[in-house]
Amino acid sequence: MKVLVADDDPGSLMVARAAVERSGHDCLAAADGDQAWALYLEHQPDVVVTDRVMPGMDGLALCRAIREREEDLYTYVVLLTSQGSREDILAGLKAGADDYVTKPLDPFVLQARLLVALRVTTLHADLAHYRRVLARQARTDPLTGLHNRLKLSEDLEQLHQWSVRYGERYSLAMCDVDNFKTYNDLYGHPAGDQALRAVAEALLGSVRKSDGVYRFGGEEFLLVLPKQSVSGAKTLMERALDAVRNLAIEHAGDPSGQLRLSAGISAFTAEHRVDAVTLLGEADAALYAAKARGRNRVELARQSG
Ligand code: GH3
Ligand code: MG
Ligand code: MG
Repeated sequence: MKVLVADDDPGSLMVARAAVERSGHDCLAAADGDQAWALYLEHQPDVVVTDRVMPGMDGLALCRAIREREEDLYTYVVLLTSQGSREDILAGLKAGADDYVTKPLDPFVLQARLLVALRVTTLHADLAHYRRVLARQARTDPLTGLHNRLKLSEDLEQLHQWSVRYGERYSLAMCDVDNFKTYNDLYGHPAGDQALRAVAEALLGSVRKSDGVYRFGGEEFLLVLPKQSVSGAKTLMERALDAVRNLAIEHAGDPSGQLRLSAGISAFTAEHRVDAVTLLGEADAALYAAKARGRNRVELARQSG
């Protein structure tokens, strides 16, 4: 672990440093509160051992500043207090310290406290790791590995606000596999799953890095295209439909004999400033029109001009 020790008493600082290093940890030393805070910001230590009374920022202020700033990473804070100052101990723990050690500092006691600190910071690191894994999992579609609806709602909201603020346009393309129910009936559900994975790959391969591809529902996909005009989105979607046809997945239930896709496009522009939910509805209506006009095609929302 990286341990920051802050104490304005050089003797006490030396004892603490020796205890930290004897425990096999790296030690950063600060002679006052301000220096401690600067070192904390620079090195993000796992543990801070701080004197209660110091010039500059005192131990309690340091505790509070650490607790306010930390997000995913946890800092274990041990307060050094003078013997008998019970009020100081309570104030320190309330300010966010995890533990306290009384002065004069006994190196053995600090070594013992560092064992606990290691256990607690390891636990916090594990928690932060699983939080990140779960957050990612909650936003991923397990079948295709694409982003899911939850991620879509977050990303779309953000893109919409950004586009409004900077006067940018963006487009949405709702896609749906043609005659997919028949595909499942003819080839079985596992083959249907495999086809959906292949379609997802083809869509991902047709967009730019800044575009988003989401599994919207069963065999429906949504493409979010920042800064894209309607005509640009149409060209892109024609290419995407091509890419799916080029997969050459046999589909006896489609007139072409192959698995194909239909798409509907809507766009947020200077002339058409509607909210994201309305825009989704417009893309869906355009998709419906593409289905009605024979499938295997891209249609634009009426409102997109
Ligand atoms: P259309 O051309 O009008 O889109 O007709 P369709 O048959 O594709 O439309 P419909 O909505 O009737 O059928 C969608 C089918 O997609 C029905 C459902 O069983 C299938 N489906 C949805 N999710 C999955 C999935 O995760 N895996 C598989 N294999 N099939 C799925
Ligand atoms: Mg379909
Ligand atoms: Mg459908």
